[in-house]
Amino acid sequence: MESKTHKALAMAKKKRIALVAHDRMKHNLLEWALFNRDLLAQHELYATGTTGKILERELDIPIRKTESGPLGGDLQIGALISEGLIDVLVFFWDPLEPQPHDPDVKALLRIAVVWNVLIANDRASADFIFSSPLMAEAYERIIPDYETYKQRAIG
Ligand code: PGA
Repeated sequence: MESKTHKALAMAKKKRIALVAHDRMKHNLLEWALFNRDLLAQHELYATGTTGKILERELDIPIRKTESGPLGGDLQIGALISEGLIDVLVFFWDPLEPQPHDPDVKALLRIAVVWNVLIANDRASADFIFSSPLMAEAYERIIPDYETYKQRAIG
């Protein structure tokens, strides 16, 4: 569905999935990921450093890892999203613990919405996204056509 104001971004059957969990949420993400291991193995996985190291070891699936989150990893995942390289963000952030990299967390969540990436911030949302038949199909993500924004007159 292309229009003058919107544009379609193609998502292949094989999704590019980014996995991130704050320290106190890592067990939660690991438990969820183990349960969904075979499904995850069908896709291309990315993760922030420590989350990726744990998941790779426990799931035995190759994962492309960025720097650790507080050292810039969240921003690197955000950059991949801006480049159109991530389709799904599973990000279990900790709602009860302040993080040293709070601004980066906010930046990642914001940029994911800018690009209409699927976002699961908790297990129930992740379950619903991953049980969708669309996970096994190609899909077109509709985003605003940012060309107009980029061509805007300044001054
Ligand atoms: P980590 O980063 O996977 O390197 O722990 C996660 C985060 O805190 O954003």
